Amino acid sequence: MEIERLKKLANDARKDLVNFLRDMVRIPSLSGQEGKVAQRVKEEMEKSGFDEVFLDGIGNVVGRIGTGRIRILYDAHMDTVDIGDRKSWRRDPFAADYKGGIVYGRGACDDKAGVACAIYGGKLIVDLGVKGDFTLYVAASVEEESAGGKGIAYLLEKDRLNPHFVLLAEPTSLNIVRGHKGRVGVKVSLKGKSAHAGTPWKGINAIYKMARLVEKIERLNKKLPSFPPLGKGTISVTKIECERASLNAVPDNCAIYVDRRTNTRETLERVKRELSALMGSEGKLEILPKFFRAWELPRKHPLVISCRESFMNLFGTNPKVLLWPFCSNGSYTMGERMIPTIIFGPGEERFTHTTFEQVKVEHLIKAAMLYALLPDMISGKYKEIFSSRIIL
Ligand SMILES: [Zn+2]
Repeated sequence: MEIERLKKLANDARKDLVNFLRDMVRIPSLSGQEGKVAQRVKEEMEKSGFDEVFLDGIGNVVGRIGTGRIRILYDAHMDTVDIGDRKSWRRDPFAADYKGGIVYGRGACDDKAGVACAIYGGKLIVDLGVKGDFTLYVAASVEEESAGGKGIAYLLEKDRLNPHFVLLAEPTSLNIVRGHKGRVGVKVSLKGKSAHAGTPWKGINAIYKMARLVEKIERLNKKLPSFPPLGKGTISVTKIECERASLNAVPDNCAIYVDRRTNTRETLERVKRELSALMGSEGKLEILPKFFRAWELPRKHPLVISCRESFMNLFGTNPKVLLWPFCSNGSYTMGERMIPTIIFGPGEERFTHTTFEQVKVEHLIKAAMLYALLPDMISGKYKEIFSSRIIL
């Protein structure tokens, strides 16, 4: 591919790319309410010259370019988290302000920037007339933030996209992420015995019992074992609740929610065992849907190498290759389905889910360029990849 021509076309597309992103930010799209933004996304894909564009049964928008043998899926999610307290936003979260080369607003980086750049990566491939031995699917998926990963599962199970490789266009500060920790949510409930608060000795205070368990969990966090390459898992109590009709009574129930981040060696069974040991014979432990697996792609995997080489060819520097403490649709694509996956995208992790969410336009242009080059790079390595034992 002609790198200089790609760079020129990408820079020429700057205004359209920014306008498209701003249009999407102006359309609120909480998980399960992506319909309107999906229409806008579909329109942009159709305008960009994709060979096929369709809206699937769950509301994902999918575009296809080419019919080559190597099937690559770019996935970016259209849903966003809620804005929280409107008063803590300095800028209107849905105004999509654009100032000093930065676009602001809910979803500006997580993950509408990814949606915009993945589509523009495809558009650049079309405009450049690249004819590699690849089929590129660009999917703008639903329900990533609701922690279900329903959108991505639908793409693979119902739409039967069956990709050899997946790239998740999520904000990574233009670093290559080749794996991340897993996640499981747990609810623990303890019972006590109700009594009038004037005679507390007649009851058993469930909050006091839970307080002791919470302390044990805090200590467990320090003791969790470390395994390479993801290191030490973590455990955090993230919510506590107690349902009481009266403030003048000793409570007979208390529940906590626990967020457990795992490395690749920590199974769901292990997580359950650890917590049960702390609880002893008391209480109830519920695993919340669902278990997101930890995963890791080897540093030398052809997908990682193709992405690194694309980056180096375009920008002349070595990209950082990292492991993440966060979770993504990679828990499904790589963790469950074992499809080699990387994450690479515009925007910085520190802005995601915040009231100052933003993305640099420079990031957008660079990501779109890389997305345009990568399929050609991967298909160029066709033989190497298909003889690799990692894939087979
Ligand atoms: Zn995201």
